[in-house]
Amino acid sequence: FLEIRDVHKRYGELEVLKGINLKVEQHQVVCLIGASGCGKSTLLRCINGLEAISGGEIRLEGDRITGPGVDLDRLRRKVGIVFQSFNLFPHMTVLQNVTLAPIQVLGIPRAEAEARAMELLRRIGLEAKAKAYPDQLSGGQQQRVAIARALAMDPQLLLLDEITSALDPELVSEVLNLLRELAAEGMTMLLATHEMSFAREVASKVCFLYQGVVHEEGPPEQIFGDPQQERTRAFLSKII
Ligand code: ATP
Ligand code: MG
Repeated sequence: FLEIRDVHKRYGELEVLKGINLKVEQHQVVCLIGASGCGKSTLLRCINGLEAISGGEIRLEGDRITGPGVDLDRLRRKVGIVFQSFNLFPHMTVLQNVTLAPIQVLGIPRAEAEARAMELLRRIGLEAKAKAYPDQLSGGQQQRVAIARALAMDPQLLLLDEITSALDPELVSEVLNLLRELAAEGMTMLLATHEMSFAREVASKVCFLYQGVVHEEGPPEQIFGDPQQERTRAFLSKII
């Protein structure tokens, strides 16, 4: 479904990704773990075309989504991304945040986009906040709206970059619960996370990034229970 082949990314002299190979099958939840600065965010940004890669290629459903001639608008309709800092538009209401792209990018009539947005807000339990502005919401609520905004585009793949790490601990679970539901519904997701217990519970596969490559990957039971690589073991022993 998503195929990352020998992807390299450099910023000037600094080569961050040094030949990443990674596959995500449809309906899988794949978790990227690794030390701060190992390139998790960079990889996600490359998949969404926010950064150009320096080598290799990425394919989505067999179509090349990197390199010259790629239609970034089309790509971003298929691949949603949610960041650590919620990045909601502060001067727009919740409803406007969720309907903006469907109306402007997909050309969906406003009434229809709003009906669909209200449905999404209902499912995340924030129907009553449709007219509120982001700064009137808690961090967990803002993050759920950010997820709803991504879902409003009906993406085939959702990229999530440490979406709970800016939240107070008591707000983390409401966001993780939403991800659990999406996973159960078969949403294909690739996420960078420091939430190891969550990764252990929902991941189809866990990939440990180290020095610009996928150093070890496998089912969560293996990565967390019986890592094969010394580096993986060292990383996990430091954070768990
Ligand atoms: P964290 O867990 O802290 O979020 P990460 O794994 O997401 O870390 P990245 O943000 O992908 O790490 O950064 C990887 C490396 O690339 C870092 O050394 C960072 O300094 C560097 N880097 C990221 N973005 C840029 C940029 N725009 N210009 C130059 N260097 C960058
Ligand atoms: Mg990051």
